[in-house]
Amino acid sequence: PLIRFDVLTLFPNLFEGFLSESILKRALERNLIAVHRHDLRTWASNKHHQVDDRPFGGGPGMVLMAPPVVEAVEAVQALTAPPGLVLAMTPSGRRLDQEWVRRLATQPRLILLCGRYEGFDERIIELLQPKLVSIGDYVLSGGEVPAMVVIDAVSRLIPGVLGDDQSAAEDSFGPEGLLDHPHYTRPRLYRGLSVPEVLTSGNHAEIARWRREQALQRTRQRFREAVLPTIPNAPYGSAPPA
Ligand code: SAM
Repeated sequence: PLIRFDVLTLFPNLFEGFLSESILKRALERNLIAVHRHDLRTWASNKHHQVDDRPFGGGPGMVLMAPPVVEAVEAVQALTAPPGLVLAMTPSGRRLDQEWVRRLATQPRLILLCGRYEGFDERIIELLQPKLVSIGDYVLSGGEVPAMVVIDAVSRLIPGVLGDDQSAAEDSFGPEGLLDHPHYTRPRLYRGLSVPEVLTSGNHAEIARWRREQALQRTRQRFREAVLPTIPNAPYGSAPPA
């Protein structure tokens, strides 16, 4: 495989449907990517398979304990050389964007650490020094959905994962930082709404011009910025939606 993901989670079954359909299913079958799931409970030391405990200092909820998690990551890192880049899912991480996804897609191995409950004992972060990934400024119940987000976004940039007719280069957040243009398919007329004439004109230069104009317009509108972002990693999302 061109990239290998190792996921450390308390709920490996959550990934079942996600990995068994459509683009990721095909990428796995064709051995372009590999996804290995590891149950954190495997590294629990006591007989109750405990991986979480009550927080020092009091307060609600449970905290993921350092020993099982640190040992799990170290064990998984030892599976291959060189060891993979460790990404810990947390709302306090750096927000994931397409530019970061592009850089992650150049890695041969990613180790994804999924939190649960109140999150990680801070010493896990101090000892492992993972990259801290947030998928957005809201709180989910666990790091599994964020890990799926990383796997999905990164995998579709791996050569061969997308078919010829679904090029990632034409999606939103490309090199220019533009959003995608609108798309239409049959029927030509639906509930009084017709497909823009230019798209059925057969004039490819005109179509390209129209699409680019639409992409620029959408991008301006969404970010309400006079100056378009021309640098990668532009501050998307800085203006909250209405
Ligand atoms: N107490 C934590 C806080 O306020 O930052 C929230 C913990 S959350 C309920 C449980 C786990 O879900 C986290 O440890 C993390 O792995 C994952 N998680 C929740 N929201 C996330 C987000 N926006 N991005 C990445 N991971 C998230």
